[in-house]
Amino acid sequence: MARSLVNARPIVPRARRGLLLRIVSGFAWALCLSLAAMAPDVLAVLPDGTVTASQAAPMIGILVYHRFAASADDSMTVRVVTFEAQLAFLREHGYRIVPLADIVAWLRDRSATLPPKAVAVTVDDGHRSVYDVMMPIVVRERIPVTLFVYPSAISNAPYALSWDQLRALKATGFFDVQSHTWWHPNFDVEERRRSPDAFRRFATTQFTHSRDLIEREVGGHVDMIAWPFGIHDDELVELAQSAGYVAGVTIEGRRLRRSDALLSLPRFLMVDGCTPRVLGRLLGETETRPPADGERQ
Ligand SMILES: [Zn+2]
Repeated sequence: MARSLVNARPIVPRARRGLLLRIVSGFAWALCLSLAAMAPDVLAVLPDGTVTASQAAPMIGILVYHRFAASADDSMTVRVVTFEAQLAFLREHGYRIVPLADIVAWLRDRSATLPPKAVAVTVDDGHRSVYDVMMPIVVRERIPVTLFVYPSAISNAPYALSWDQLRALKATGFFDVQSHTWWHPNFDVEERRRSPDAFRRFATTQFTHSRDLIEREVGGHVDMIAWPFGIHDDELVELAQSAGYVAGVTIEGRRLRRSDALLSLPRFLMVDGCTPRVLGRLLGETETRPPADGERQ
């Protein structure tokens, strides 16, 4: 099921990486559903209209997508109908889709404000369906999106966006382009192959070279990183901060807390099984009506 995904990144020559991706992909759908089932129990949320950001936990979440298509040919592809249904759900339930940078600013500055129901849309890996399939929807819906790309693939791997496409995406005004490291290494694997000093140099190069290439080719300021496979630890966080990054995102699937560490922010992995109802539960929506027959999960 995940074969096309695993084959899609020839740049990274690690078998272990493919294994990890198969595990992540294979469980993505089940993970999505199980997290959705947990959300209402662990999060206290007042009914719509009775909360404000200052009175109760705001409903803030970061979503991460990978690719888009008319049909879900692999586990990391979200169908257009699913994506559009998610956007409609967010709109109808009072969510505002905000730039990820706004959420980061809110986390960094206690005086900054956000809408009480705010969601950021991110897309990892720079798949060309972001240009072919997602862009028209984003422009029509006028929603901000943050892309996390790894430059070794850009204008190189057949599945990936080109730099021209990234520039065109940025020119729409709706896309911010940020770093997913230089070539998407598995830091656990790379650490085992090197001395501590060599690994620190390796990681720093992944952070700085990615940022430099994106800033040179696309423009803008790169100071956010998506951890490949979500892998990070205190040492990597410190190295990324030293390289100038102020925020980092993972694939830990939960809502945001204002106390979250800036370099390891949670994101909900979006797969095609994340129907509007599942998405609502992930974000902490309480059921507003009993489910109809056949609608129960
Ligand atoms: Zn990735």
